[in-house]
Amino acid sequence: MDFSKFNKIIEGKTKVIYENPNDPDTVFMLFKDDITAGDGVKHDILEGKAQVDWQTNRDIFEYLNRCGVRTHYVSSPEDKVSIVKKLERKINLEVVSRRVAAGSILKWGTGAAEGDRYEPVITQFHYKDDPLHDPMLDDTYIEYMIAAKNSIEYSEARRINAEVFQHLERAFAAFGVQLIDFKLEYGMIKGEVVLIDEITGGSFRLWPFKTDKPNMNQANVLSELDPAGRLDKDVYRMGGDLGAVRDKFGAIAAITARFKELDV
Ligand code: 5GP
Repeated sequence: MDFSKFNKIIEGKTKVIYENPNDPDTVFMLFKDDITAGDGVKHDILEGKAQVDWQTNRDIFEYLNRCGVRTHYVSSPEDKVSIVKKLERKINLEVVSRRVAAGSILKWGTGAAEGDRYEPVITQFHYKDDPLHDPMLDDTYIEYMIAAKNSIEYSEARRINAEVFQHLERAFAAFGVQLIDFKLEYGMIKGEVVLIDEITGGSFRLWPFKTDKPNMNQANVLSELDPAGRLDKDVYRMGGDLGAVRDKFGAIAAITARFKELDV
């Protein structure tokens, strides 16, 4: 498709959205080779990333759609291009869920140790704003909005985040990898909260199991996992060279390509 003839709706750090002249209810989502970290401060072009992200995202969303999750994803008509449902309104939140303590939660100074396991998964909301570094929202405000204002934005996003976590955790575990945490985004379509955006190597942490039969029923599961073998964008955040990052993203795509083998 020649997108130079289409109207661009918005260009973000890793994707461009174009109007679909043939269907007012959907838009085109094009993946870019850009990779960023630290709220856009670190930025590189990683040749081939758009293709790999497109594949990973396609395979994850097709799996989630099969699982019955309400998502914006429709189809992927050609390389690096997906069709997604048009939003009535974006919800400007990043919704993070964690099964295993890693990353920023270790810096809170509240006693979380790397590898601590959360059952059920914990979920936190961040206001999406790079200059403000995506500040976390106050839990009492979220509870108030749900209880007093019947805000389905928060209640549904929290519910869907946990549901998606279970589905993806199970899927990655079938291929020897633990989903540690992830960040998802939501929008409103026809009055409903819907999972939107992309889910790719930059959205989650993935640590391989150390053995074939990890014991995940422990308060801390670090002994069962291999964080040094991580498959995710932390390789880039931690200063790994772009070749290593490309290899990791390729390894993720090789796993998600097999999600179609899974029963739901
Ligand atoms: P943390 O808060 O520990 O840095 O991140 C928790 C999880 O959310 C990780 O899987 C991380 O990749 C994801 N995450 C947090 N912030 C962002 C963000 O701004 N963009 C993306 N793509 N993922 C994020």
